[in-house]
Amino acid sequence: MPHILVGNFRRVILISGDVVGVTMILVTGGAGYIGSHCALKLMEAGEDVKVFDSLELGTQHALDVLGREFPDRFKGFVKGDLKEPEDIRRAVTEDVEAVVHFAAYSQVAESMRNPRRYYENNVIGTINLLGAMADARVGMIVFSSTAATYGEPVYTPIDEKHPKAPINPYGATKLIAERIMQDYEKHGIRSARLRYFNVAGADPKGRLGECHDPETHLIPNVLKAAGTGKEFSMFGTDYDTRDGTCVRDYIDVNDLAEAHVLALRYLRNGGRTDCFNLGTNGGSTVREVFAVCRDVVGEDIPLKECLRREGDPAVLVADNRKAREVLGWEPKSTLRDSVARAWAWERTRP
Ligand code: UDP
Repeated sequence: MPHILVGNFRRVILISGDVVGVTMILVTGGAGYIGSHCALKLMEAGEDVKVFDSLELGTQHALDVLGREFPDRFKGFVKGDLKEPEDIRRAVTEDVEAVVHFAAYSQVAESMRNPRRYYENNVIGTINLLGAMADARVGMIVFSSTAATYGEPVYTPIDEKHPKAPINPYGATKLIAERIMQDYEKHGIRSARLRYFNVAGADPKGRLGECHDPETHLIPNVLKAAGTGKEFSMFGTDYDTRDGTCVRDYIDVNDLAEAHVLALRYLRNGGRTDCFNLGTNGGSTVREVFAVCRDVVGEDIPLKECLRREGDPAVLVADNRKAREVLGWEPKSTLRDSVARAWAWERTRP
């Protein structure tokens, strides 16, 4: 049968126009907060998607949404644990073109209490995934990394060349996973490693949102206080910043998902293994975020000023020029957009 080749050499389009062969994207952790938004965005962009998830942190609700919204493009779900090589082998079949890898633990404080859990899941899990990819000859991976790979900022905004000195096991596991991926380039797997700053918000149509238990992140905690009347604890008001509270770079989860679609395109076009910061180039203080939340909610939120939380740097802001220039990425949502969508989700979530 005559055929032409496009992008990746394993993707075949017949002259009839039908796409055959390896065209599916495997999303590990696709039932989780960021993974599910990204799976939805990939399908909106015309990709076929399969999800691998243990459902330890991911939800059946997210899978139901993916299947309901895109019954033709959602190619199924493999339940499994990344720490089990046989589980991930079942998901990385030869019809997979690329992997977008989210499955990981991501709580800083928990990683300090239980580093082994983090190294096993985030590092050994990634090794198992790369092994399965190498065996199935899957040559591209987009990786969910983090600003925690940089550690305490030496300068700000932080660009990709900033020294990498993680100050907690979570950041260390992600940096090690990045390094392992870099070494796999010579063995046929190219990677785009995306370092997220503070991810926030929810699906604009209210289908998906953030569901962590326990919840440690700022915006969901402020909104939870608004919903329940319980006090919101503001950690640290004596930092050397414009109002004494920490500055973070909040990036909307939908903009973040879009960056993964573009990173996949970058790899398909032959892009080399590289890393990209995903943030907005700007920051908001905890007090500013609190004020936006109060404004969106439309009523006072009980607030308690507390001591600093251990391990919080004063300022973390991304220099995102590389992602803009190389991937053509442009974050569009404002902090207010993210908060408004998170609030809509908080009130209606299942
Ligand atoms: N924060 C807070 N109260 C909370 C949760 C977070 O004051 O209940 C502060 C936290 O100390 C930090 C900022 O909000 O300065 C962002 O924290 P988050 O956990 O959302 O993200 P991180 O920057 O730790 O990844």
